[in-house]
Amino acid sequence: MFENLSERLGGVFDRLTKQGALSDEDVKTALREVRVALLEADVSLPVAREFVKAVQDKATGQSVTKSVTPGQQVVKIVHDELVHVLTGAEDPGSLKIDNPPAPILMVGLQGGGKTTTTGKLAKRLKDREGKKVLMASLDVYRPAAMEQLAILGTQIGVDTLPIVAGQKPVDIAKRAKQQAMMGGYDVYMLDTAGRLQIDEVLMQEVEDVRDAVNPRETLLVVDGLTGQVAVEVAEEFDAKIGISGVVLTRMDGDGRGGAALSMRAVTGKPIRFVGLGEKMDALETFEPERVAGRILG
Ligand code: GDP
Repeated sequence: MFENLSERLGGVFDRLTKQGALSDEDVKTALREVRVALLEADVSLPVAREFVKAVQDKATGQSVTKSVTPGQQVVKIVHDELVHVLTGAEDPGSLKIDNPPAPILMVGLQGGGKTTTTGKLAKRLKDREGKKVLMASLDVYRPAAMEQLAILGTQIGVDTLPIVAGQKPVDIAKRAKQQAMMGGYDVYMLDTAGRLQIDEVLMQEVEDVRDAVNPRETLLVVDGLTGQVAVEVAEEFDAKIGISGVVLTRMDGDGRGGAALSMRAVTGKPIRFVGLGEKMDALETFEPERVAGRILG
């Protein structure tokens, strides 16, 4: 995901660390290249600007350039700033699911990976936390999506709400809640319908579902390859629905990765998980230290 960014930054820092003595001007020149590399990775302009300014403030005009290993010190400052900009939630992988049955609302655009991620998360909750999970598809527009979730359920050993034709999303949500209560489930996950783009009908529908179940977590699933668009989608969903976190999918791809760096700074919402493939166990919690490590190679 970060190959290009990583390579670009690697080049800049190689030159810095080989140089020995550094002037403030050397640091500034290097940081200009860092800024370009960030923008090329589709990091939003204000975030890239802020990032470079923060590093510059810490790296120039003081002990750094006079130290024995100035280049390495600059790299360390960049690393810490990356961790800072990536950090959102204290414990991204821990979902608020006390007080059973806890509703988790999954939202996002069509094709972003919502249904797949619903399955992955359900499996994770079952396998790692021993939770009894119920999944329900609210996608009344695409019967295939409902079947897709049912097939995933069978595959991972998680129950799905029986499909009843002709019900509205909010009624399916209420039925899921009832079944979860009666069946002694710890969690019920609602996989809402997506559209190709955000529209009023979609938002109203998700709002109605939200008001009917009062979700403990509302997770937005977005395609990480879409860069700044992913961040804009998150802003819109948060404004209308209120989200508690983001899952960035397709982080196994060779996209530019900027969404990971801009998300929290722009939306104020933490990335909680990343999708790293199509398989049901290809989901990781979002660990800023590890991501910063990957970026710096
Ligand atoms: P939805 O319309 O948002 O429910 O999207 P789906 O869950 O149906 O996913 C759309 C496609 O993306 C499917 O082919 C998934 O297998 C694939 N997909 C989902 N998450 C990931 C991921 O993290 N990495 C990769 N490579 N593919 C993914």
